[in-house]
Amino acid sequence: MKVALDIGHLYKDSNKDDKGAFYQGFYEADFALMYAKKAYELLKTEHSIEVFISDPTKNILVGDYWKRRNWVNQNFNENDLYIQCHLNSGKGNYALIMSVLGYLDDKIISQNELTKIETAYGQILSNNTMKFLGISVKDFDESKDTIWNLKEGDRGYDIVKKFKCPAFIYEPAFIDNVIHFSLLKDGTWIDAIAKAIWKSCIEINQWIQSGGTKK
Ligand SMILES: [Zn+2]
Repeated sequence: MKVALDIGHLYKDSNKDDKGAFYQGFYEADFALMYAKKAYELLKTEHSIEVFISDPTKNILVGDYWKRRNWVNQNFNENDLYIQCHLNSGKGNYALIMSVLGYLDDKIISQNELTKIETAYGQILSNNTMKFLGISVKDFDESKDTIWNLKEGDRGYDIVKKFKCPAFIYEPAFIDNVIHFSLLKDGTWIDAIAKAIWKSCIEINQWIQSGGTKK
């Protein structure tokens, strides 16, 4: 299985200075880069997983977001995984896992099939986020899974639509929640988030190997 750990905000052609939200001397992208790098290091030791991270020196997962999507759609299969790494802001106390379920222009697999795979992946990521961070994962579409299925006009919709594989915007914490911030700053949650991603990829890979939606 291939996994893309894309760092949100950084390396955009159209906005080179974007680093996301700012709080107490830190940018969102500082922390996102830290947890994504740590997850990358953990996943590199897994032989059945091929992991990629935003890397300007290799021209991988950089540039405007549509370019990253094109790269993923050219190099990944339907069962692979794309995570765009962010943090939320607005002083909340929950994690968000956002996707556009079943949205694909040139249908490689059927909508239902894609939706089932995306829901399964998102659920695994959600479970591990709750487990490793002890935080609840919100679902604003109230569909009782824990994936926020973005609709046209929602923040993030244009970013994660049209992927051929499950694609998520991941906001595991709030940079401006005082408690979240201190746990991010002292590294506790950098480790916890990295482990949540790592464990999710392992479980997703096992789920595919055991037949996925076809079992
Ligand atoms: Zn962001």
